[in-house]
Amino acid sequence: MTVGLLVGGERITQSTGGSHEHIYPATGQSNETVALAGSQEIDRAVTSAWEAHRAWMALTVDRRRDMLIDLADLVHEHLDELARLNVDDYAVPISFAGTALLLERFLRHYAGYVDKPHGASTPVNGSFDVNLIEREPYGVVGVITPWNGALAVTASCVAPALAAGNAVVLKPSELAPLAALRFGELCLEAGLPPGLVNVVPAGAAGGDALVRHAGIRKVHFTGGGATARKVLEAAATNLTPVVAELGGKSANLIFEDADLDAAAVLSAHQGPLMQSGQSCACASRILVHESVYDTFVDKFLSVIGTAQVGDPMDPAVSFGPVISQSAADRILATIDEAVSHRAGELLVGGKRLGGKLARGYYIEPTVFGAVDNASALAQTETFGPVVSIMRFRDDAEAVRIANDTVYGLNAFVQTNDLARAHRVARQLEAGSVWINQFSDMSPQGPYGGYKQSGFGRTGGAEGLHEFLQIKNIRIGMR
Ligand code: NAD
Repeated sequence: MTVGLLVGGERITQSTGGSHEHIYPATGQSNETVALAGSQEIDRAVTSAWEAHRAWMALTVDRRRDMLIDLADLVHEHLDELARLNVDDYAVPISFAGTALLLERFLRHYAGYVDKPHGASTPVNGSFDVNLIEREPYGVVGVITPWNGALAVTASCVAPALAAGNAVVLKPSELAPLAALRFGELCLEAGLPPGLVNVVPAGAAGGDALVRHAGIRKVHFTGGGATARKVLEAAATNLTPVVAELGGKSANLIFEDADLDAAAVLSAHQGPLMQSGQSCACASRILVHESVYDTFVDKFLSVIGTAQVGDPMDPAVSFGPVISQSAADRILATIDEAVSHRAGELLVGGKRLGGKLARGYYIEPTVFGAVDNASALAQTETFGPVVSIMRFRDDAEAVRIANDTVYGLNAFVQTNDLARAHRVARQLEAGSVWINQFSDMSPQGPYGGYKQSGFGRTGGAEGLHEFLQIKNIRIGMR
């Protein structure tokens, strides 16, 4: 079956960007062929998006708010279907695919912003002049999403973009376009103007054409740093502004006063188990105070041992495959290199799973102890179920190791000392710090990176403002 693009409210199966054979990572089998957008379809999508933007802005704010709430209601009715498509997309376990709910939550949150003030007025020098600071939509924005967390990223970008008054050309990864395409259909079913949300699966060529298109006024990119560099070069063509949500190598600090049982559970799920380590929010460097190191490692490994590995559609399964054969090869090579360079001590895992899982891309949860933070293992985003554990002597050393990376997306702190939690959180170079807490993405909290983890934010008022540009209007009162 060929899965088509969604442009101007129509499904298109004949496209100029070629096609991609979608492989289900749990079985290595091909289920669908995905039509890819070429520059012609991107151009059509941008043109229809501008028409839809004008139609959207012609509606009253009450109407736009209500339509986004209607869309949230429709998403709610289709949560099970969207969660199943999320599994089809990249074999994330259905037990985790509840991220479909994020789509609804982001839509409801941002619907509330449509009719709230976006601007301000300010006194100006020596007159009764009125000075208005207005925030206006860009018009048409390009949103480029990764294959992992595809629906969550879609939710966090499309909802604020629409609430701000923009139309969207959404380019999901060719590896995981299914849930995003269904979401595009739901936008139409909810009565949004055709073309307000276009969904154009594509790879690098289609993404590049989108970023270079003169009709795209802002790009919201989520993905890896290497791709971000290409996106920034392409965006230089028209000096298009870019938001970049990139990868991480997040540290998880376990202090001696932490509840070690809770810390072990959190560290396992936030580490190698969550989406098989394929999450930007993965805490892949676990830093443990030397006095509790051995106790923590025992508890941590026993939680890892309880992971239910298997068919992602089985609700009891918590650990699935990685995205592709090439990702599996890359992750196994990283593990081999870490072993041969003695980056740390391999405590568990390290192999591809066989038996009835052999055709899927399953890699054992893999844990290295006593890792050198200067090693490639500790410095490179593995994007697989591989974590490093290291010792620290005191708070200052913990913070130093945590910050000793080019990344700065998340950091995690396990402690029962509130003053220490606060002090350490302030010293960590990360866009989000989670204290005794998982990375629970929510529409209310701005999310994004420090350093090479990116710039710009999704979520909260900050996430809305990424999709608004500022205009100052001064009215003379002579
Ligand atoms: P990727 O960089 O390979 O691809 C991201 C997107 O960019 C895809 O849609 C891809 O098709 C597109 N693309 C590829 N080449 C392009 C080009 N030249 N021009 C324009 N678009 C292009 O990343 P991925 O493998 O899909 O996702 C994994 C990465 O994403 C990891 O680094 C992960 O940490 C990061 N990520 C970050 C967040 C966040 O919120 N910070 C969330 C999820 C994933």
